[in-house]
Order: sequence, then C-alpha cells, then structure tokens
Amino acid sequence: MNGPINDELREAVQFHGHLCPGLALGFRVAKAALRELKAERPEDEELVSIIENDSCAADAIQFITGCTFGKGNLIFRDYGKHVYTFFNRHTGRGIRISEDYRGFEDDDRFPPLKKRQERGEDVTVEMQALKMEKAAAILKADENEIMTIREVATQPPREARVHGSIRCASCGEKFMESRGRVKNGQIVCIPCFEKA
Ligand SMILES: [Zn+2]
Ligand SMILES: [Zn+2]
Repeated sequence: MNGPINDELREAVQFHGHLCPGLALGFRVAKAALRELKAERPEDEELVSIIENDSCAADAIQFITGCTFGKGNLIFRDYGKHVYTFFNRHTGRGIRISEDYRGFEDDDRFPPLKKRQERGEDVTVEMQALKMEKAAAILKADENEIMTIREVATQPPREARVHGSIRCASCGEKFMESRGRVKNGQIVCIPCFEKA
C-alpha cells in the first residue's frame, strides 16, 4: 500500500492500535465527510463531529477529522448507532452519514464460527483472518455500498463554552462549575454527590 491515502490510514491504525473493520469504516466515513463538507483536517474548530457510538470507528473519526473532546468539537451521543453527523461551521452545511456495511450479516462464515466460539473453541486465528478480509473489503468498497449520506437542515451545536471551575466542598478537587451538585447544602462534584 502506497500513496498519501495509505499513509494516512497507516497513521490512523497507529493511533487506534490495530487495523479492524470498525477502524476501516470510520476511516471511510471521515474521508467522505471531509470531502462533502470541503473541509481540511481542521486546525481550528470549523468542523464538528457528532458520533453516536464509541466503537473502533470513533478513533478513526477523531484522527482523520481532527475533532476531539478536548477541542470541544467532538460530541458523543450514546445511542449505539453507526451514525455520524458533521457540520462545517464556516459554511453552515451539515451532513449525516449512516454506515450501512452488510459484509458481516451477509457472510455465512460467521455464524458457524460464533457457534464454535460459544462451545469454547479457540477461533481467534480464523476470526482475525476474516476481520482482516473485511477491513480490506471496506477500504476498497464503493462508498454507496457502505454508507448513506444526506444533508441535514439543523444548525451545528453552539461552540463549547469555557466554564469556570470551583472546588468541591467534599474532596477539594476542582471541577467545571456547570457540573456542580448540591449535597447537604454544599456544592460538590458529581462523584462526591453520587457517593452514598
Ligand atoms: Zn478496532
Ligand atoms: Zn468531590
């Protein structure tokens, strides 16, 4: 594998720790998003990513789009769906990408492998080979075979505000003001609030 795309893929694999179908799918989704929204991997916060799962794909999204929790332009909605929404704040355009790869459900080699695994057999090597085959297939697949892209009319979420921090009355550690809870008349952090 050569060329700039593959260098980028290699770096994404390094960031994630391994190549897997999830990473490959996230890579394809992120590349499609940057192209559709005419965004470069942004240094500023022009791009916003909303991810609806925290699977392997999420790492590729972060690495390729440059959207991170720390910059406040990566938003996690815990829906467990393979759906990704991206906004370009400069242009106001947004797209929603629903990943729809069918390579697992349409492959009849998986059910017997899973059965053997349930019986306690070690199928690691075969499973790994199959996953690598899928990852390669995903990287080569036509885009419309693995995802659906559509425009969204909604506005991007507003920019992350920087909140002041205060000290927890119980543990003394600092926390973001807006996350404070009141317990026995004192302002405490969430972990202290939830402690019995
Ligand atoms: Zn992975
Ligand atoms: Zn505390």
